[in-house]
Amino acid sequence: MIIDCHGHYTTAPAAHQDFRKRQLAWAKDGGGTPPVPGAIGDDEIRESIEANQLKLQRERGADMTIFSPRASAMAPHEGNERVSQDWARANNDLIARVVGLYPENFAGVCQLPQFPNAPIANAVAELRRCVSELGFIGCNLNPDPSGGSFSAPPLTDRSWYPFYEAMVELDVPAMIHVSSSCNACLHATGAYYIAADTMAFMQFIEGDLFRDFPTLRFIIPHGGGAVPYHWGRYRGLADMLKRPALREHVMRNVFFDTCVYHQPGIDLLARVIDVQNILFGSEMVGAVRGIDPETGHYFDDTKRFVDALALSDEDKQKIFELNARRVFPRLDAILKDQRR
Ligand SMILES: [Zn+2]
Repeated sequence: MIIDCHGHYTTAPAAHQDFRKRQLAWAKDGGGTPPVPGAIGDDEIRESIEANQLKLQRERGADMTIFSPRASAMAPHEGNERVSQDWARANNDLIARVVGLYPENFAGVCQLPQFPNAPIANAVAELRRCVSELGFIGCNLNPDPSGGSFSAPPLTDRSWYPFYEAMVELDVPAMIHVSSSCNACLHATGAYYIAADTMAFMQFIEGDLFRDFPTLRFIIPHGGGAVPYHWGRYRGLADMLKRPALREHVMRNVFFDTCVYHQPGIDLLARVIDVQNILFGSEMVGAVRGIDPETGHYFDDTKRFVDALALSDEDKQKIFELNARRVFPRLDAILKDQRR
């Protein structure tokens, strides 16, 4: 079977975005009771999914998508702490409804209420709610809740530890994922995402996070940012900084997806990074829409790139399915319940 580890609900019904507008207006004006999400019918959700993510999943031959709220709209820096909590909750509840309607096609991953400088306990509480009550299998953790000024401490800082303790206890991984950028120097999907991915990896090299949390697991999306291309630089820096070899120090706990939108990039990823550490992902419908004029195929139709890799069928099955089942044990349990 084929598991896409990286999909976003970029096509949510209009009432959802309307709630966001009302929220931000409320935060600006101050006073009064905070707005509540508007009603969205199951039919609206079905329409938004069947014409988009589900259609593409079927056309491209995937079976299950690990599904989270629209990444660029998470924007934890907007509004205030309460807005951030209500927005995360509304987004996650909507993902839970998609999963409820299509349990064989989607599994839920949550966004977190990470208003800058708000207590990490907010994120812990929402993670617990999503995993325990909504049946989610993972989360998207934003390493820079400020939206582009990188004011939060590195991911290895102890201020993040209560969140990691909850992740370990619940046995769920996190995808490192920033959101929209409020820094004009950082285009969201072209610069900010890739930079944040690369920065997270370097932070893991500098720190000792996985000595403290040997079972903690992160997915660094977008092919691991610039890391595979610069693998020699990172191995060299680990050596220079007197860190252990990356294989033991980082790569027992960190995985890269295949959201790289051309064949040479995927070829390099698979050549440099151990097959055990690669999870199939497409990030559809989302970051890069449109058809590559050089190939005639959608940029984010990444399955064809993995199919074309010079690997054994066994190794491809690890990338397509087995690694995801290992990194997301709660997904493995759901699939086993479904006799898959
Ligand atoms: Zn994404």
